[in-house]
Amino acid sequence: MKITDLRATTVTVPLEAPLLHANGAHWGRFVRTIVEVETDEGLVGLGEMGGGGESAELAFEGLKPYLLGHDPSQLEAMRFKIMNPTASLYNNRTQLHAALEFACLDVVGQKLGVPVHDLLGGKLRDQVPFASYLFFRYADPETGEGEVRTAAQLVEHARRLKGENGFASHKLKGGVYPPAHELGCYRALAEAFPEDTLRYDPNAALSVEEGIRFGRSIGDLNNDYYEDPTWGLNGMRRLRGMVDVPLSTNTVVIDFEQLAANILDPAVDVILLDTTFWGGIRPCVKAAGVCETFQLGVAVHSSGELGIQLATMLHLGAAIPNLTFSADAHYHHLKDDVVKGGKFEYRDGSIRVPEAPGLGVRLDRDKLELYKELYKELGGYPYDRDPGGLDLYPLVPKQRFADPQVSLRPSLSTT
Ligand SMILES: [Mg+2]
Repeated sequence: MKITDLRATTVTVPLEAPLLHANGAHWGRFVRTIVEVETDEGLVGLGEMGGGGESAELAFEGLKPYLLGHDPSQLEAMRFKIMNPTASLYNNRTQLHAALEFACLDVVGQKLGVPVHDLLGGKLRDQVPFASYLFFRYADPETGEGEVRTAAQLVEHARRLKGENGFASHKLKGGVYPPAHELGCYRALAEAFPEDTLRYDPNAALSVEEGIRFGRSIGDLNNDYYEDPTWGLNGMRRLRGMVDVPLSTNTVVIDFEQLAANILDPAVDVILLDTTFWGGIRPCVKAAGVCETFQLGVAVHSSGELGIQLATMLHLGAAIPNLTFSADAHYHHLKDDVVKGGKFEYRDGSIRVPEAPGLGVRLDRDKLELYKELYKELGGYPYDRDPGGLDLYPLVPKQRFADPQVSLRPSLSTT
């Protein structure tokens, strides 16, 4: 089998509300690039990458000379063809590779008539459990509904998500408001859901000292882990010795060099595996194997996904033995998807692992067209800016937090 064509299409899909994070916000929508790999046997494999626009579409177009004629089952060869580690000093293609790896695994699974998890060693579970992923949010600019700013609003939002989806773990994305406010919100969740577990992720916004203070203030709660409280392996290592809660990261251990450094001089306890950041599903499986050997925890990370990327997370979650934490997904904040049959559904906090050949998802062409046009209409947005304070670029550690007393309803127009 040979690759005969590559296609990349940038889409934007609406979110229920603008989602705030330490560096800025998702401005009420996700921008994603959908990749299709066509073969001489008529099979089409699907991939997905975060962000997009003309530059992303052209980046995939630019890889055609490397990949036309390549056998999609030759995955290690593809890794060295487009992202060997020394050439990557000049052309960082990790995330492009990830999307292409998804598509090639999809094609190979379709050809063999087996789901992708069978190509990864087989599944160990039929469904993958997920945490509720709770964000502080601005209200919808049109309806005025959906604001999450206060502890009461947060608990109400979590209660709704738990009622709809059955989550038994709750992740609070912080680093938006001053730590004292977010601590109050986190403790309110613990009080509202005493039977559930919790995780807090301020995206490395806190100083080491603030991170220690916060970590000590949640030590009595039912925490899964404390995610990226501060920046850098060294900051995390300093903090780790001062708090009782296990630390996790999706920022400072995202490749094998960093994983080795963390094993030689531990700074983080739980490695959050992201199929895009690590360059594909297979690198995540390899990393999970290293973590299994050294008894580090692992979980499945979400960098924002539509159904294709979600499928990669499900196949990964099905295949790795040491998945002892629920996964994260932004997915339930989306209003729609580009896959046939509509959005994946949660049941009892879990999503079933696809069983159809390949990734088990197919494109809904009408939706692809609809959201491609929506992207053309709305364009991109500055992920690292808050629409409620555009001039406030964040420092690390963050010092200019939003004011939790003020209810904003900023415009989401970027044009
Ligand atoms: Mg994180």
